[in-house]
Amino acid sequence: MIVGVLVELSAKAVDKVFEYNVPCELINDIKVGIRVSVPFGRMTLEGFVLEIKDSKTTSKDLKDIISIVDKDIVLNKELLELGKVMRDKTLSTLISCYQVMLPKALKAGRCGNIKYDTYYKLNNNYDDIKFNDKQKEIIELVKNGPVIRKELVDISLSSLNTLVKKGILVEEKSEHYRVDYSDEKFVKPKLTVEQKKVVDEVISNNNNNTYLLYGVTGSGKTEVYMEIIEHFLSLGKTSIVLVPEISLTPQMINRFEKRFGKKIAAIHSGLSDGEKYDEYRRISRKEASIVIGARSAVFAPLENIGIIIIDEEHSDSYKQSDPSPRYHARDIAILRSKYHNCSVLLGSATPSLESMARAEKGVYKLLSLPHRVNGKELPLVNIVDMNKEIRKVKGHFSLELIDAIRSRLDRKEQVILLLNRRGYSSFVTCKNCGYTFKCPKCDITLTYHKSSNTLRCHYCGHGEKVYDICPSCKEKALNNLGVGTQKIEEELNKLFPNSKVLRMDFDTTSRKGMHEKMIESFKNQEYDILLGTQMVAKGLDFSNVTLVGVINADTSLNIPDFRSSENTFSLLSQVAGRSGRSSKEGQVIIQTYNPEHYAISLCKKHDYISFYKQEMMIRRDLKYPPYYYICNIRVSGKDSNYILSEALKIKNSLERNLYSTIILGPSSSSLFKMNNIYRYNIILKYKREDNLYVALSKIIEHYISNNKIKVDIDFNPSQMI
Ligand code: ADP
Ligand code: ZN
Repeated sequence: MIVGVLVELSAKAVDKVFEYNVPCELINDIKVGIRVSVPFGRMTLEGFVLEIKDSKTTSKDLKDIISIVDKDIVLNKELLELGKVMRDKTLSTLISCYQVMLPKALKAGRCGNIKYDTYYKLNNNYDDIKFNDKQKEIIELVKNGPVIRKELVDISLSSLNTLVKKGILVEEKSEHYRVDYSDEKFVKPKLTVEQKKVVDEVISNNNNNTYLLYGVTGSGKTEVYMEIIEHFLSLGKTSIVLVPEISLTPQMINRFEKRFGKKIAAIHSGLSDGEKYDEYRRISRKEASIVIGARSAVFAPLENIGIIIIDEEHSDSYKQSDPSPRYHARDIAILRSKYHNCSVLLGSATPSLESMARAEKGVYKLLSLPHRVNGKELPLVNIVDMNKEIRKVKGHFSLELIDAIRSRLDRKEQVILLLNRRGYSSFVTCKNCGYTFKCPKCDITLTYHKSSNTLRCHYCGHGEKVYDICPSCKEKALNNLGVGTQKIEEELNKLFPNSKVLRMDFDTTSRKGMHEKMIESFKNQEYDILLGTQMVAKGLDFSNVTLVGVINADTSLNIPDFRSSENTFSLLSQVAGRSGRSSKEGQVIIQTYNPEHYAISLCKKHDYISFYKQEMMIRRDLKYPPYYYICNIRVSGKDSNYILSEALKIKNSLERNLYSTIILGPSSSSLFKMNNIYRYNIILKYKREDNLYVALSKIIEHYISNNKIKVDIDFNPSQMI
């Protein structure tokens, strides 16, 4: 047998299919889509079998396949085709598209690690011998079917061994999945009229629609998802639910487990490689029909899909930025829904502008849940103007926030504090008046470059010198902003020495299982205050939390990104939604230097629609998405002069080949120099450009064997750094 194998070459070389012979002993297991390891020059590489070229003969000129990586794990026809579409849409290699479809745990060398349980059953025709009491006890047990080893060992190990040796008991191995879901029964709530309307619309009109469910925090979206999934389950269909990694907490998984038991497979970073491997195989074997996971779960090898749900659809975690393929899970979900003729349901309390605009145009169907389920109001939001406060207090806490925290501590209620630390670029701000420097052309915050003591725009390259006097208030109070959770924790300990503060950030949650443990102990009220970064903002549901404080709303506003207002509005709305989720009334306090900014003042009113309208006008004026598409071309390499001159050549060639595209840059990236690699960005803005893919492909082609330079293309980048 001769097969064509797409080989996993790590260099940026072309995708190539090479031919190999299949040795006799592997012929029965070879399938299209299976992963194999093959000799390649002096190396051993992995690859995917893409075609069976000849099922009968072999060729003397070809080498043999070494082995099959895992015979259970095969990319099916749908996924193989999907990979090709992805390659074309993201301009990445086909092999990288196939690789991203399989979890890392299934990569070379780690697979094959299957756990087994040993069972014993009675041999049908055994010789009758005299049994002692222990042996009799064992035989009694196994009479009714296989029994797991542990139970029999508990009676007597030596009796067990004797019975096996004499051929009375037979040993059987059965696969043991490392993740277990309970099948406990549970009563589901009766849906509200609003919820029911949404469910009915989605299940009755099942012909490949994309729905956008705009539902405020606590409006019962998750309950709606589960109802829809149950419907499709009853039709024998499967479902995918995507959630941002950060909200894929045990709280969330538990809700699905309670409803669907062993039908679910949850794939998240809290699992060990072995656990992931088992979950994936349960999916491949059709034992799980509901897959819950982060971005890459959109590739779950389910068949007969009934619905694909993307919760918190605005989250930028659905876009893979690095490495390629730079895909968006939403696009993949829509592609898969076409194949399965099913619908996609996007849900959010703060839909992305792109999705809302599509809903407005009728490309997506808009559904909404405007009220919280239990008739509760959304929490009251107070804005504290830090420009005034900064003269009164020393640290980062306003008097109002201090008072509010104190009253919760007195009442034994809990507090969540958000330290907004989105992004990692440095920008300059005035400590006195809150002034920040913005690009006059692109309206994004300028980034500070220490080496040249300048402020630069990362979109268009505009630069200006830094002075130490604020152009707005004329005070000498310019400062690089940035404060860590540790510093805030210290302040809290001083302000409230008797309170228990739980700090949740990247450092404290990096150990496996810590994130879960922290959430659990906060829920059990072992702590009074949960202080954290973005990870405290999403998906958490604590009934005793009645105050949410945002220490600094401004950092995310000042990120050099055209989405900074949108991201701030959605972050603040999300975190506000953590307050007052049960019977106790909730409050939110937002500290800011920009109290008049619409992202903040409209969050106070919980007014997404007005925010959407205002932001859309800005996007239109400045030619940003959703009015224009954006594509970022990143040019990087060790020699900054060379990189810049090549970047200029790329720009020139694009200018010659594109007709209606706005081309910005090259400008130095905010991570201009990282690990001695310099990066420049060229940004394209376009509405329609028929020649774009051809022009970009040519550029990629041109540099493909040039080791001094790397060209990365990112369509619809989620962030531009
Ligand atoms: P969202 O996902 O929109 O934030 P959830 O689905 O988490 O909302 O619902 C918020 C809370 O209300 C949860 O505790 C959920 O169990 C509860 N809930 C949802 N729907 C109903 C309902 N129809 N009746 C009673 N409780 C409900
Ligand atoms: Zn600019």
